[in-house]
Amino acid sequence: MLDGSDAMNADPDYSAAYVRLMTDSPITGDSLVFTIGRGNEIQIAAINILAEKIVGLDLDDAFTNIGAIAKELSSDSQLRWLGPDMGVFHMAAGAVLNSLWDLFSKNKGVPLWKFLSDMSSEEIVAAIDFRYISDALTPEEALEILNRAESHKSKNEAILVSTGVPAYTTTPGWLGYSDEKMLHLTQEALHDGFSLIKYKCGKSLSDDRRRLGKIRELVGPDFPIAIDANQVWDVGVAITWINSLKEFNLRWIEEPTHPDDVLGHARIAREVAPTPVATGEMASSRIIFKQLLQSKAISVMQIDASRVAGVNENLANVLMAAKFNIPVCPHAGGVGLCEMVQHIAMWDSVAVSGHHSGRVVEYVDHLHEHFLEPTNISRGRYMTPQLPGAGAQMHQSSIDTYIFPTGDYWMNGVRI
Ligand SMILES: [Mg+2]
Repeated sequence: MLDGSDAMNADPDYSAAYVRLMTDSPITGDSLVFTIGRGNEIQIAAINILAEKIVGLDLDDAFTNIGAIAKELSSDSQLRWLGPDMGVFHMAAGAVLNSLWDLFSKNKGVPLWKFLSDMSSEEIVAAIDFRYISDALTPEEALEILNRAESHKSKNEAILVSTGVPAYTTTPGWLGYSDEKMLHLTQEALHDGFSLIKYKCGKSLSDDRRRLGKIRELVGPDFPIAIDANQVWDVGVAITWINSLKEFNLRWIEEPTHPDDVLGHARIAREVAPTPVATGEMASSRIIFKQLLQSKAISVMQIDASRVAGVNENLANVLMAAKFNIPVCPHAGGVGLCEMVQHIAMWDSVAVSGHHSGRVVEYVDHLHEHFLEPTNISRGRYMTPQLPGAGAQMHQSSIDTYIFPTGDYWMNGVRI
């Protein structure tokens, strides 16, 4: 249906490498790495290789040593050659770590956001690998940020439980949609109470101007809208293109160029100001985020639950953003990403930067029905998940139907 289509990704086939850690109790650690189709077999091979490293661990020991485990998963000298700290093996490390965090919180009987929020500042800091980021954030500074928030935690948690965190939607904005479908879905999004709507852009300037003109006509001059180019431009093109859309009063321009091009983002940010620049869904590690923050390249930081090395690395990313006073507005356009990343945003709202107007969490209305606890969006806000765990566990029936290549969907031509 071209759900998920944008200027770079013309034919997405939403997929995931799914991980399940088995224990000698009934609980399992479930996680996934979102992909958009081909390449899953490579992702799965990497996960299988790294997962060997945690076989046989005791769960309590694993929690006590989670910082060391994270470091070890990224430190195998031969596998590291295929990174380092980026790409398939880094995402595989994230899958293994996220499965462990799922186990930790299920074992405690709480959702991950609550598990993280109840951890001490020292435990959070101990979970982070500060290698390569200590020039931007030291363990002592991280501790200070967390300790500062400590006395607000119970009040922040009460606000979170009663009002959730604001969501924005990308559902109306896929590039493959007709203007009619886009406007119809925009109307629905307004009705549903979303506080920002995002649209794909970057294939044709005249199309972008036409679409944004129609959108502005519908939503009015002040309603926050953002656009997302998904990396299609060179730096110079990005600057010209974005500046010729200034009249549309954009809340942000997302992924204007290659995700590793920190200096390019910094130049774009300078030359399209005051239009804010956002990126991060494909920022491969905390090291890229560090440079984006240090070089003032972003006004909005978009972490992703399955791109980096799991919860551990996202703890570092959120704390770096707090130090640089940049809001974290997580990316969630993909299967399971909303369910997973909401926990990090909620932890941020309770235990790091608190509740503030800069945070808005992406929401897309696809494939939630496969998850044990689909996101709960109410009046345009993510409400807290209730089930223990980190959010990625799918219904067994969905797994049985769609697992490749043995599921009914593939074997028997079932079309649901
Ligand atoms: Mg995006």
